[in-house]
Amino acid sequence: MRAELVMIGTELLLGEIVDTNATFLARNLAGLGIDVFFKSTVGDNLQRGSEVLAEAVKRSDVIIISGGLGPTEDDLTREIVAEVMHSPLQEDKGALEELETWFAQRYDQSHMPVHNRKQALFPAGSKIIPNPIGTAPGFYLEKDGKMVIALPGVSQELKTMFSETVAPVLAQKGTGQILVTRNLHFVGIGESRLAEVLGDLLHEQSNPTLALYASGGIVRIRLACKAESREEGLEIMAPVEREIRSRTKEFLYGTDGQSLEEVAAQFLVEKKLTLALAESCTGGLIGHLLTNVPGSSAFLNRGYVVYSNQAKVDDLGVRPETLEKFGAVSEQCAREMAEGARDRAQTDLALAVTGIAGPTGGTPDKPVGLVYISLASAGDTIVQRHVWKGSREQIKNRTALMALRLLWQLSAT
Ligand code: ATP
Ligand code: MG
Repeated sequence: MRAELVMIGTELLLGEIVDTNATFLARNLAGLGIDVFFKSTVGDNLQRGSEVLAEAVKRSDVIIISGGLGPTEDDLTREIVAEVMHSPLQEDKGALEELETWFAQRYDQSHMPVHNRKQALFPAGSKIIPNPIGTAPGFYLEKDGKMVIALPGVSQELKTMFSETVAPVLAQKGTGQILVTRNLHFVGIGESRLAEVLGDLLHEQSNPTLALYASGGIVRIRLACKAESREEGLEIMAPVEREIRSRTKEFLYGTDGQSLEEVAAQFLVEKKLTLALAESCTGGLIGHLLTNVPGSSAFLNRGYVVYSNQAKVDDLGVRPETLEKFGAVSEQCAREMAEGARDRAQTDLALAVTGIAGPTGGTPDKPVGLVYISLASAGDTIVQRHVWKGSREQIKNRTALMALRLLWQLSAT
């Protein structure tokens, strides 16, 4: 079964709103094991809307329309479906009564606005999709082997109606198979390098299929397969996942919804290790990420946000000579920041970062994006040097990520 999405709304084309309905529908259709091959967006216009729907009906079995079900002049979905499917609009008595009751209950008036009467019109042969939280009911029409489903644009209504009425109808029509997915998250390895390491697997893939996505320093592999149940799907994917793991152990930090900060935090909690932070170029971002994890007070003792040289000296005991000789963005300074934080906070570990986030402040020696990350522990202190490309925010994010990676890597040692 092939499904297709038609998103109606001029505000979508003007970029005034984000098309979250399409994301929701696409994700949920995938979850039902239904292929979506096309998505179109069209303004509130009868002719263009009809053209788009006619095209969709030609190439897909199920078409889901979002938007244009309201009572106003520019809400044209009913008319569009009626025209394309050759099913003239008819007033539904039951729907009209429900609308009248809805208005009477809410607005203390016996007559609803005449415009709203339109919301009781449906293309002949349609089944009504109840709207438990708004005025506009949706509908679906099955004709000549095609199914056209119309839902309101208001996201909460669309979601509720899809989940309560549309999903069960589609599940019944479908093959009974669902799409099972599993995500593996990697840090410290680029997308192309990972593609190289897993080349043969990516090449041979059929069930499960594998897809690589990279964003903000994290690479994700999505495994997906069709199966009768989630358990069966996971079973089909297990050997491929095992093979991927065996080749990429030092980069693979988590699965599905897991974040790097969660994995790092979990390790610290399990090992009962305490942590102090000394952040220069990230301005508290590492602390922010770690404190997003519930229970972080179990390991996070304190964070120093030290921007001026004076603060590094006063709060962390960095030596003035170090700053003078090597500068604040240097291996030596990062080391003294980490050791100073660990010493003053009396923690097991301290993580320090110092760098040049830009866009100004770079020199040929020390370019924008130069960052030092240091982790001090009882036995020793390590310092890493990186040079990132990107905007100020990207450099901050990347630095925080690599700092968290250092913590996570402790779990492997
Ligand atoms: P209404 O009864 O409110 O007129 P409708 O079915 O006519 O409902 P639209 O007029 O197309 O729907 O959209 C109503 C509102 O729903 C929009 O102003 C917007 O805020 C939201 N909306 C519409 N389409 C989308 C979309 N694709 N993604 C997210 N939100 C949307
Ligand atoms: Mg509308």
